Amino acid sequence: MKYTGPTYRPPYEAKSLLLQVTVGCTHNKCTFCTMYKDVKFSMESIEQIEKDLQEANEIYGDVKRVFLVNGDAFVLSARRLKPIAKLIIKYFPGVEVITMYASINNIKSKTDQELEELRNLRINDLWIGTETGHEETLEYMNKGFSLKDSYEQLGRLNKVGIRHIDILIFGGAGRGKGIENAIANAKLMNAAKPMGISITTMGTFGDSQLTKDVEMGKFVPATELEVLEEQKKFIELIIVDTAYLGIHGINTVTFDATLPKDREDAIKMVDNAMEKLDDEFLNSVPERHSI
Ligand code: SF4
Repeated sequence: MKYTGPTYRPPYEAKSLLLQVTVGCTHNKCTFCTMYKDVKFSMESIEQIEKDLQEANEIYGDVKRVFLVNGDAFVLSARRLKPIAKLIIKYFPGVEVITMYASINNIKSKTDQELEELRNLRINDLWIGTETGHEETLEYMNKGFSLKDSYEQLGRLNKVGIRHIDILIFGGAGRGKGIENAIANAKLMNAAKPMGISITTMGTFGDSQLTKDVEMGKFVPATELEVLEEQKKFIELIIVDTAYLGIHGINTVTFDATLPKDREDAIKMVDNAMEKLDDEFLNSVPERHSI
């Protein structure tokens, strides 16, 4: 298998076949992100993709789930994605899910008909870099789309039957705005009805714009206590049936849950952490070095 540049995948895709279709990220401008900072975006050739599939077929035999790397692989047009999906089905006829990271803009650039065609080719599940439902925070994050776009495009995925797991960043709004962020995030998620919500926590990495802004005092990060209060408020407000996917190593309190069914247990876990962690830690901004 050929992999070029750094490869990131959600922790939940540990058992999926990772198939490289792009290198880097086309946007590469999010305030908090350095993942592909030094990587020039490029697309993998269909010949190399087929070679990788042949090799994977020899090694793994049967594969049910394929994760297409890298940062915003759904940026590929439907014209490019369809032959890739067909090749995956050729080598793995039993494949059930072809998934990848997607930006809201990657959905926007496809027609409903294209989305339906992709879904029929088993691209039926996407990890969306939603990050926040808080307008001002989204703007600061420089994602390149508006909150209105998030509501509209996630709604389009539901309409065409593509499941989605929406990624959120707790602490993303900074000091004093955690509850606002929780309320806005819950509002977006309750409307977007994702199959799952993947939770991460804001951190300063490398020489990101966020790191520079923190150094210059332009962005004041939330304390750990604020992040936990935000987490608790968010869980309280989720009314849509969804999976809460919170095991990412960057989070302080890590657990998976089904909401709203497990709400009480989930809240207890956050409360326990707030009780047990010492005040010095709770009132600090712990360093988080890697996404
Ligand atoms: S967060 Fe995602 S979209 Fe933004 S720069 Fe990083 S990889 Fe690209």
